[in-house]
Amino acid sequence: MLEIKVTKTTTPKAKPDENNLGFGTHYTDHMFRMDYTEGQGWHSPRIEPYQPISLDPAAMVFHYAQESFEGMKAYRTAEGQVQLFRPEKNAERLQSTHERLCIPTIPVEDFVQAVKALVDVDCDWVPSAPGTSLYLRPFTIATEPHLGVKPSATYEFIVIASPSGAYYAEGLDPVKIYVEDEYVRATPGGTGFIKCGGNYAASLAGQMKAHDLGYSQVLWLDGVKRKYVEEVGSMNCFFKIDGVIRTAPTVGTVLPGITRMSCIELLRDWGYTVDCDTRLSIQEVMDAAHAGKLEEVFGTGTAAVVSPVGKLYYEGDEVTVNDGNIGEVTQRLYDTLTGIQWGVLPDEKGWIVKV
Ligand SMILES: *Cc1c(COP(=O)(O)O)cnc(C)c1O
Repeated sequence: MLEIKVTKTTTPKAKPDENNLGFGTHYTDHMFRMDYTEGQGWHSPRIEPYQPISLDPAAMVFHYAQESFEGMKAYRTAEGQVQLFRPEKNAERLQSTHERLCIPTIPVEDFVQAVKALVDVDCDWVPSAPGTSLYLRPFTIATEPHLGVKPSATYEFIVIASPSGAYYAEGLDPVKIYVEDEYVRATPGGTGFIKCGGNYAASLAGQMKAHDLGYSQVLWLDGVKRKYVEEVGSMNCFFKIDGVIRTAPTVGTVLPGITRMSCIELLRDWGYTVDCDTRLSIQEVMDAAHAGKLEEVFGTGTAAVVSPVGKLYYEGDEVTVNDGNIGEVTQRLYDTLTGIQWGVLPDEKGWIVKV
């Protein structure tokens, strides 16, 4: 158990309009902080007023990107209760991110306690309008002022919280996807399986290119052969082809999404065949589309939950998925996951942690 020292703000901010929150633009009154010092371990867990952080310009995070992050949400139920969705999975994933980046790990129970404590202090900030939530951003930065390349001797772990709007203000809307055949997101042996800022810095050029061509997201192919489908933007990607549901195996280049994991479990419960062990080539996807067998394509992630794909563009060929409509499986997954998260459906899986 962490002994968290709480210092409350004396100047609480005005709450933003719940019906116009957007994503990642408003921040709550408080933040969680904890320091790491070599020889001492993680120490000084505290909740403080939300404020800028002061770092030495030589802090290693600025130069060598030793940085990790997580993304999760707190949901308000119709009864007013606040709850989290599988937070221990975020804690475990942050541990694997830290291991890959040579950052000391944070115990799972400490991570969950920190997140719960912040949500509790800022609980008035969890919005209640339909589809809204309090987005939580835990992250760790290397703070030692040093320009030699090596793991930092000091770190700071911070959790900030941002009330966020309904992702789909007008209902689930299928998106247009550009299959990227030039830039790659991840390569074997690299950092594709962890959440670190560097992965995103490297993805921006592909994302900008897709936007300029009129597509909203990139479908990334594997970094070696540019042949197998991996992820779409910051979401895992599922394809329903001739009745079978397929998604890229999480073998080093694909982020093991908690939404992905939850969808696979639900789909299997419902009796669908899910193949998440065999790689799927983009050619198979395009051939299936031309043969009328590409039944559904959707992305999964905490922010959007489930995002239907309506069009795919690959090397001069654009195909439409399910006539541009939302598939039955996509809709059922969306309804079920959001139902569990906002407490409309019973939590039969034990996925909910109350704050
Ligand atoms: C966070 C993330 C996902 C989705 O993970 P969830 O745990 O479902 O939110 C997928 N791909 C990438 C690259 C990500 O960073």
